[in-house]
Amino acid sequence: MDTKSKELFLKAKKYIPGGVNSPVRAFGAVGGWPRFIASAHKDRLVDVDGNEMIDYVCSWGPGILGHAHPRVIEKVQEACKDGLTFGAPTKKEVLLAELIAELVPSIEDSRLVSSGTEAVMSAIRVARGYTRRDKIIKFKGCYHGHSDGLLVKAGSGALTTSMPDSAGVPADYTKNTLVASYNDRASVKNLFEADPEEIAAVIVEPVAANMGVVLPEKGFLEFLREITKKYGALLIFDEVITGFRLALGGAQEYYGVRPDLTTLGKIVGGGMPIGAYGGKREIMEMVSPAGPVYQAGTLSGNPIATTAGIETLLILKEDPDIYRRLNQKAGEIALAVKEAAKDAVCLNQAGSLLSIFFTSHKVTDYESAADSDTASYGRYFNYLLDRGIYVAPSQFEAMFLSDAHTEEDIAFTCQMIRDFFNQ
Ligand code: PMP
Repeated sequence: MDTKSKELFLKAKKYIPGGVNSPVRAFGAVGGWPRFIASAHKDRLVDVDGNEMIDYVCSWGPGILGHAHPRVIEKVQEACKDGLTFGAPTKKEVLLAELIAELVPSIEDSRLVSSGTEAVMSAIRVARGYTRRDKIIKFKGCYHGHSDGLLVKAGSGALTTSMPDSAGVPADYTKNTLVASYNDRASVKNLFEADPEEIAAVIVEPVAANMGVVLPEKGFLEFLREITKKYGALLIFDEVITGFRLALGGAQEYYGVRPDLTTLGKIVGGGMPIGAYGGKREIMEMVSPAGPVYQAGTLSGNPIATTAGIETLLILKEDPDIYRRLNQKAGEIALAVKEAAKDAVCLNQAGSLLSIFFTSHKVTDYESAADSDTASYGRYFNYLLDRGIYVAPSQFEAMFLSDAHTEEDIAFTCQMIRDFFNQ
């Protein structure tokens, strides 16, 4: 039964555009209506009709420990008693910045903001201020939040033109965003050769997870490190998803490549709204009031959000075996898919992130991801949802594992996936 969810969705549409506060939640790509969630504990969501679902979305990444981890909830409840926001410095901001610097190899100094979008927008401003250059390179299919300059698609014709990918974004705002192809070194090289002294930074998801999960080919991240150095540009890793997920030190630890700037979000806030950006001190000293790059926020470093972030990072730090457990569970699902679906799908996995692309060829970039059979994905999604398994309501999003997923739930999920492919 999902009567109450349906009723709420109809009502939501009267007051909220499309009935949701973030587009993918509307189930537009898979049909039907979204389930309205009433509560979540460990690896289970409970919707307003009382249906329980095993959750593989994990709030799009923050939920690495599962929902409502008792230690995090307790600390947040304690912190609430002392007030929700002060707009003045707190000890917890210092503790979180110290933890980030300890855990993420390339970060010395960091700034807290309230979302991944803000983190990326600010990191790019810093890169531009530091290099005194205007252009940036991003990759087709990578998502870096919804700031104007990053909502671009590659334009037709000349390689270097890019067009807004959303109404309301003036072409002037995207003209400095150049678009390359993920895993395609030549596309990056060409852009640098055409504009050797104009490019401030290359921004990349070190594992792309917003066109479904697409892994960097061997040597690709190292190549980006070298070419940015060669041309005096900065390398920015957008680790909003991969940070503290692929390893305690994120993708940069996992792949052993150090960017100049890193953006974080999701896990660093432990389920509360936080983003962060950071890097070498010399570069971060550009940020106001230390330097000339302006960036600010009323709720930045919010005491409740920092409390949730600190406790989450401490739990991860105390128990590094968590990554082995996460990878093992993701591996079990990957194996079940491969055995049942054979060559009918492409399974991409990096640690506890995975995607099942409904295509028979390898998915290595936006184009190879984009021609997946989204109707088949919709059938797969609804088959699992009917059996109490909640995966991303879009082919082009990741499946997230958490430490709270039990062996029984993983086994049940694997069986349902096998049943789907063996119908
Ligand atoms: N960068 C990446 C890699 C993301 O996945 C996201 C969000 N999914 C963002 C930036 C934007 O973060 P937020 O939604 O918190 O603004």
